[in-house]
Amino acid sequence: MLANLCVQIRFKAAVLISLCISLILLIGVYFAISGNIHQLQLFILIYSPVLLFSLYISWNSTQKSRIVFLHSKLDQLNREALNIMAHTDVLTGLNNRRQFIQLANYHIHHQSKPLQPLSLLIFDVDKFKNINDQFGHYIGDHVLQQIAETCRHTLRSQDIIARFGGEEFIILLPQTHLRQDQDIAERLRRAIADDYLELDTLQKLKFTVSIGVAEFGQKNRDLQSVIRMADQALYQAKSAGRNQISTYKTAS
Ligand code: GH3
Ligand code: MG
Ligand code: MG
Repeated sequence: MLANLCVQIRFKAAVLISLCISLILLIGVYFAISGNIHQLQLFILIYSPVLLFSLYISWNSTQKSRIVFLHSKLDQLNREALNIMAHTDVLTGLNNRRQFIQLANYHIHHQSKPLQPLSLLIFDVDKFKNINDQFGHYIGDHVLQQIAETCRHTLRSQDIIARFGGEEFIILLPQTHLRQDQDIAERLRRAIADDYLELDTLQKLKFTVSIGVAEFGQKNRDLQSVIRMADQALYQAKSAGRNQISTYKTAS
């Protein structure tokens, strides 16, 4: 009984142990009072409420520890969910802008020497406003989700992909040798251009992207300036007619 009040064990185990000890106790008492049934009944009358009370305390404390455990588990899950929400774009499930900048900066500043070639792609959906206007925002959202999916299975596992905002995506390509970045950009452009969304009307909705490519130099490891370079290249791809890639040319 004392153990029930003080020691925290599972309630079922407490019941089992208490019953065993009580049985032994009753047998002991039975022999101690030389089998006097009246005295034994009196003992049981006094003993039972005390036993039940101690079991109730044990049950209560088991419940309390369960609640504390569930609360801490719930807190942990909430923290993890908040963490994921803070880093993930809700629509596409890709990294969001903040997470991209954090991951990219970490990658750029924790590279071992000699520095590996590093490239950045920015791409933007062509005439996306027309898709929204013609088919609705909901279909526009589906296009963005499909593009995110194409990125996931076209790019390599080490590439860092993010939705940079609106209908604009950004990708950091680590360990990409010279010109390889253009091949990757072209492969991605083609994969998106080959893809389509099947509408309820069985109409196939096609969409394209324009991609700007920029390379980090051995000296220029500044993310913001390379983003600006890729953005300029993207602008050129748009001006040149869209659905194409353009590479930022550094003055040599
Ligand atoms: P361009 O080829 O020059 O890029 O033309 P565009 O029409 O794609 O460019 P513009 O910047 O005029 O339009 C972008 C549109 O993207 C406008 C905005 O409403 C839409 N957009 C931004 N975010 C979302 C989104 O999360 N979902 C949907 N459906 N549309 C979005
Ligand atoms: Mg656009
Ligand atoms: Mg845009």
